[in-house]
Amino acid sequence: MPTDVKTIISILEEHGYEAYAVGGCVRDSLLGKEPKDWDITTSAKPEQVKELFHKTLDTGIQHGTVTVMMHHVGYEVTTYRIDGKYEDGRHPKEVIFTPSLEEDLKRRDFTINAMAYSDRTGIVDKFHGMEDLQTKVIRCVGIATERFLEDALRILRAVRFSAQLGFQIDQETMVAVTELAPTLKKISRERIQTELDKLLLSPHPDRVIMLEKTGLLQEIFADCEKEENSAGNAMEELAEKLGKTEPDHYLRWSLFLSYVPYRRLLKSLKFDNKTIHICEKYKAFQAEQLQKDKPYLRRLIVKIGKDIFEGYLRYREILGNVDTETFLEVQQNWKEIVENGDCLSIRELAVNGKDLKEAGVESGVRMGEILNALFDMVLEDASANRRETLLEEVKKLL
Ligand code: ATP
Ligand code: MG
Repeated sequence: MPTDVKTIISILEEHGYEAYAVGGCVRDSLLGKEPKDWDITTSAKPEQVKELFHKTLDTGIQHGTVTVMMHHVGYEVTTYRIDGKYEDGRHPKEVIFTPSLEEDLKRRDFTINAMAYSDRTGIVDKFHGMEDLQTKVIRCVGIATERFLEDALRILRAVRFSAQLGFQIDQETMVAVTELAPTLKKISRERIQTELDKLLLSPHPDRVIMLEKTGLLQEIFADCEKEENSAGNAMEELAEKLGKTEPDHYLRWSLFLSYVPYRRLLKSLKFDNKTIHICEKYKAFQAEQLQKDKPYLRRLIVKIGKDIFEGYLRYREILGNVDTETFLEVQQNWKEIVENGDCLSIRELAVNGKDLKEAGVESGVRMGEILNALFDMVLEDASANRRETLLEEVKKLL
């Protein structure tokens, strides 16, 4: 445990409270992974926690969570609690504080997430979490269907953890996933987005296949218009391709988009505009017959966008619907276009509006037409992007 976590736990213990590191950090430590953050669970009530530390934030005080600041890092310290019904998948509507660590561990989703640790006590593992870590199993604490009925987000979390850790989902838990897939409707789109994003960017993104096999996919996109031309083996193919990619957000989501037969699914998941723009763009050009010649390529780069073109090529490489020879030449030419600084926007023309005015072009529609004509000329022949050449052309056009 980091020194600051030890300090927080010691201070709580010195004042007569129980305190443990809990959940994800214990799981990750046991797996030999660096935990992202350290959560602490304690018998102390929020007010009591606040009395003991100089700097605290009331981040989730209504759920019993106080953030203790130490050396500019925040540690969530949460009072032992029993949860009422969950509202938004993360926060229960009402919480009841309890003096029992076991009660607190019992409310947690999976056995591997329900372990606590302190230097004084060692590992507290009431639900065989260690065993499930060793045998690589995701298993609900208690009766799976009950746990999923309390909070449907856990259904997606099961699939997500299985992809992040490369674990199998225990059979009873798996049956409950499939049976209760329709209850996912209750979960906010933002939460679904977060879980799918973690799944897709995990070390085992091919587990997306489970979304289809369990019926989760159909539930998640129930409100989206279905695309007609979906191949039968699409998800298998997607899984295979995802497995070959680096964990790049845009690449993996654009592949997802290209294989999952629903329209506007990124929008329905409330994704940011940048993600929607990039992934939709890639998808729109997924079947483009790539040619190697530079005039064509420059025009394509303009259509797709210079800053996302590299990502587009990678996407096409993974899609694998371009013959290798052409693809290599396209890559080489794209590299040269960038290195030579070929003009790829009207702004980069060697003449501007002022120059054209001086050459006798009226501003307005005509100006726009002439700029476009010049731009088209340099897309065709990059070497034409010289002041004299362009002004010469303006004369001809006039
Ligand atoms: P991550 O690496 O994604 O942060 P994590 O296990 O730390 O994984 P968090 O969402 O940060 O997951 O939650 C911390 C802990 O809180 C979990 O380990 C689990 O014990 C508990 N928990 C979180 N969400 C739920 C939930 N929906 N139902 C029950 N317990 C939950
Ligand atoms: Mg966490």
